[in-house]
Formats: sequence, structure tokens, C-alpha cells
Amino acid sequence: MSVKIKKPIYLTVDFEDYRYNFSRDFLTKKKYYIDEVEKQYWIIKKIFNKINAKALFYIVGEVADKLSKDVVEDIKKNYDIGSHSLSHLKLLKMSDEEIYLDTKKSVELIEKKFLKRVLHYRAPYFSIDKNEENYYKGISRAGIKYSSSLRKKYIDSNNIISINKYGIIEIPLRSIGFGLKRITVIGGSYFRLMPIQLIDKLISDTIKLNFLPIIYLHNYEADFTAKPIIEKNIFKIKLKTNDFLRRLGRSTVENKLIYLSKKYSFQSLDNFVRK
Ligand SMILES: [Zn+2]
Repeated sequence: MSVKIKKPIYLTVDFEDYRYNFSRDFLTKKKYYIDEVEKQYWIIKKIFNKINAKALFYIVGEVADKLSKDVVEDIKKNYDIGSHSLSHLKLLKMSDEEIYLDTKKSVELIEKKFLKRVLHYRAPYFSIDKNEENYYKGISRAGIKYSSSLRKKYIDSNNIISINKYGIIEIPLRSIGFGLKRITVIGGSYFRLMPIQLIDKLISDTIKLNFLPIIYLHNYEADFTAKPIIEKNIFKIKLKTNDFLRRLGRSTVENKLIYLSKKYSFQSLDNFVRK
């Protein structure tokens, strides 16, 4: 009997309150929905258990600060942690000082809650295009060592890019196309909306192109019973469209992960960088 060795694939979870993010950005209303965030945690954790997945959770600082002891202890016991900024703002136009202050505050909140060093960071919306210098300067001053925020079409080196000037290891994701909405391999909306065969193919191609295979999910990704952010309002079309797209395909996530788990073993990005 031959035992098939599964190839590693790296799983990350951007841990955030999307209802807060959307209400703030589209309705200028600031309110956290931590009960919903925690419900989503238990949904995704149950799936991860089924497929024996390890993962790295990038947590928004203000969300970490509000989490219950149960969720904090469970994440600590089962997964690795990093920061996903203080309150999920885009970094595109921030100075290095602003990025430093945002990251530092976020790291403080997460470390205080989890009693664990935070060395990993992922930028909200991967929003570092053309602002890389300020980005790496800012996060390195805040003590970050590993980043996975850069999207590239090709990579010259194998899997990682060393940002020697700032002592940062960047683990980039492959992207296809142009602009902010380009396809990033593979996660978020693309993972929910694309057929599994295409996802599988994109992952294989990405490995051939020397990128590390990373699946990036969010805590809300499998929460397919979530209510829309606004129910009845003929205005706010942009919010409604974005919210609709964020909820589309959530019911497919579990089966897609199970499919991939037959071929790959899900690992934490932290295991990779510490090898
Ligand atoms: Zn995010």
C-alpha cells in the first residue's frame, strides 16, 4: 500500500468585522458586531477541524481587543496569529509614520489580549501598491518581521522576497491582471466565486511559477446565513452590490476546502517562515 504524501498549502485568515468595515466605509456608522465575528470563528474552525487544517490568523487590533476569552484561548491553542492593522483602513496613502502608529497600536492590543508576540502582518485589502517603501519602513519599526501583503505577477526568487533594508521577509501572492481588483491567487471572493477546478489549476500554476501556494480566507467566508447589511433601501447601491458580492458563494467554501484537503495539507504560514 502506498501512502500519498500531500503537498503543503498555506492557509491564512484575515480576521475582521466586515459589518463594521462596510457600515463605517459606506454609512459612516461605527459599531462592532463581535457576536457575529465570533459566530463566524466557530463556523470556520469547525471546517478547519474537519480537514485537519493549521492556519495563521491576521487579526484586526480593535477586533482582538473585544474578543471573548473563549475565542482568544481557542485561537491561541490551535492557530498562529498576526496583525491585520488597527481598524482595517487602506494603507495606500498613509505615510510611514502613520503606518507605524497604526501597526504599533494594533500589535499592542493583540499582544495584550493573546499574551503572544506578533511578528506577522497583512495589509487590509493588500493596499500597499506604490507605497511599499512607507509600508515596510512603518511595519518594521513596529516590530513586524513577516509580511504577506504584496501581489506580483512574477517572482524572481523562490517563494519569498527579503526586504533587507528593513529586515522583513515578504511572502507575496500571485496576481493576474491589472489594478486593485486584479485576481489574487487565491482567496476571498475568488475562492467563493470560482469553480474548484479553476481554483485547483490556479494553485498548480502558482507553484510552478515559484510562488508559495497560499489560500487566504476571512472569518466570514463560510457564514452563508448572514443577513445583508441593509435590507430595504433603494439608495446605497454601491454598498448593496459590495455586500451582495461578499456574501455570494459562501455556501461553497466548505466543499472546496474539503476537495483541496484530499490533495494538499493545510499549514500555517508561520510554520513555513520558521523552518
Ligand atoms: Zn481584511
